[in-house]
Formats: sequence, C-alpha cells, structure tokens
Amino acid sequence: MKVKNNRVLYTSAFLMLTLIVGYNVWSYYHGYCTIRSLMAFSLPAKLLLAGIVVAIVFLLSSKSKNRRVQQQSKCSCSTELRNNWDYCPVCGQRRDR
Ligand SMILES: [Zn+2]
Repeated sequence: MKVKNNRVLYTSAFLMLTLIVGYNVWSYYHGYCTIRSLMAFSLPAKLLLAGIVVAIVFLLSSKSKNRRVQQQSKCSCSTELRNNWDYCPVCGQRRDR
C-alpha cells in the first residue's frame, strides 16, 4: 500500500519534471525564450521554488518522524512492539518512549 503510494508520487513527479523540461526545451528551440530568460526568475518561478523548498523540508521532517516512530516500536531485543504495549513480551523490558 505504502510502496504503491510512493510509486504514484514518483511517477507523477517524474511526469511533471518531464513536462516542464520538455516545455522549456520546446520554447527555447522556438525562440520564445532565450538563455537569459531561462536564467532569470519570474515571480511564479520564485513562488514555485519556494514551494519546492517547503515541500522538501516537509518530506524530510515527516521521513525522520516516521523513522523515529519505527524505532520506538521496536524493543532493544529487536522484537516488534504494538502501539498499546508497554512491555516487551519476549524479554520483559519496559518500552522506552
Ligand atoms: Zn524485548
């Protein structure tokens, strides 16, 4: 389920990127924009870049949060612990939160 979601995300991101690059290459070869206008950032481009930065920060923070939750759900004896378990059923150690 989760892997499938990731695949959809990556595929759509790849398609978006291909579309953007394709459009830029097309407009460059048809003289609609020059190298100078490619390098200059318009206001929508700045907003888009800011959005990308925000999205990357959000993604990284949620990934590290996921990793932390995953580490918490394992005992030091590497037994998987359910959310409502306070003690490990194998070694009897208290779950550290
Ligand atoms: Zn244990």
